[in-house]
Amino acid sequence: MSIRIQNISKHFGSFAALDQVSLDIQTGELVALLGPSGSGKTTLLRVIAGLERPDPDSGAILFHDQDVADRSVTTRGVGFVFQHYALFKHMTVFENVAFGLRVRPWQQRPSRREIRERVQKLLALVQLEWLANRYPSQLSGGQKQRVALARALAVEPKVLLLDEPFGALDAKVRQELRQWLRRLHDEIHVTSVFVTHDQEEALEVADRVVIMNQGRIVQIGTPEEVFNHPANEFVMNFLGTVNVFQGRLETGRAFFGPLEVDPSSLFHNQAGRAARAFIRPHELEVNTHKNGQPSFRARVIHINAAGPQAKLLLESENGESVQVEMPRDRFQSMGIKRGDDVYVSPKNMRVFMEDYVI
Ligand code: ATP
Repeated sequence: MSIRIQNISKHFGSFAALDQVSLDIQTGELVALLGPSGSGKTTLLRVIAGLERPDPDSGAILFHDQDVADRSVTTRGVGFVFQHYALFKHMTVFENVAFGLRVRPWQQRPSRREIRERVQKLLALVQLEWLANRYPSQLSGGQKQRVALARALAVEPKVLLLDEPFGALDAKVRQELRQWLRRLHDEIHVTSVFVTHDQEEALEVADRVVIMNQGRIVQIGTPEEVFNHPANEFVMNFLGTVNVFQGRLETGRAFFGPLEVDPSSLFHNQAGRAARAFIRPHELEVNTHKNGQPSFRARVIHINAAGPQAKLLLESENGESVQVEMPRDRFQSMGIKRGDDVYVSPKNMRVFMEDYVI
C-alpha cells in the first residue's frame, strides 16, 4: 500500500503542528519520521492513521491513490505499535495476539483453528512461541514490544505505524530490537512508518528518513543522503555530534575558528560574508606533528578510549572545545596522552551561509 500525503496542515488553536506537509511513501517501504520533541512526528502519524483530522481546507491523504479522508481508523487497515505496549494484562501472549481476530464480526472471523495457526505463525515470526502461555507481567520490556508487534500484524494491516516503539527500553535492548525490526520488515514488507527522535535508530533501520522541524519536513532521503548531504544547519546538527566553527570569508581566503582553509572557487564573490563550518568528530585528523595540511594546534583535555572509536576532547589555542574521534588502534599507536599538544586538520567540512550550502 503506497501512501501519498499532499499539503497537509494541522492546527491546534492557532498553533501549526503540521505546516503544508507533503510526502510520498512507496509500497513496502520502511520510513522513519525523525525530529526533535514537538516537531510534529506523532501528529503526522496520527493523521495518516485517521486518529487526527487535518485542517479542513488543507490537502489530501491517499492510500494507493484513494482519498481516505472519509475513512475511519478501522477501515484504513492500519496496525499500531506504541511506546507503551498496552497489552491486555489479564490475557496471555497467545490471547493478546489473537484478540484482533476474535473480535471480528462472525462473518469475517477466521475459525478457531485458523486463528491458532495464524497466532502461532506470528509468534514464530517474532521469535516468541515459547512464551505463548505467559502473561504480560511475566515478560521483559523487549518481549512485550515484540508481542505488541505480533498483535498489530495479526489483522494483516496494509500499513504499520510505530510511534517510538522502543522508546521505553534500555539502550542494549533497543539496539537488538532495531536490527530485529529491520530483518522482520525485510521478511514481511508491509509499508511501515516509524516515529523516533533517535537519529541512530532512524539511520540504522529506515529505507528513507524524513526529518521534521517545527511542523515542516526539512529533508527526505536515504540514511546515507541525509547524513552525508544535510540540506541545512538544522539537519547537520540534529544528525549526530558536530564541531561548529564560526567563520568569515575574505577575498581568496577563508577562516573558520582556528583554521585557515584553502580558498575554494565556491567562496568567490562571497567575501565579507559570515559563514559556519561544520565538521563531524571523525572528519578531523589528529597528528603529533604538522603534516603540511592546514591545521591548528590544540591540547588534549580528555580521552575516552572505551569502544572501537577513541573520543578525544581538545581545546584550541583560543579556547574552543573540539571533539575528535579516531579508530582506537590508531589512537594507541600514536601514544597520545592527556595534556599533550596535537595538530588537528579537517578531512572534510561543510560550510553553510544562511541557507546556502557550499
Ligand atoms: P515528541 O517527540 O515529543 O512526541 P512530536 O514531534 O511527536 O514530539 P507532536 O506530538 O506531533 O510532536 O506535537 C507537535 C506539537 O503539537 C507540539 O507542540 C504539541 O504540544 C502540539 N500538540 C499535539 N497534540 C496536541 C493537542 N491535542 N492539542 C494541542 N496541541 C497539541
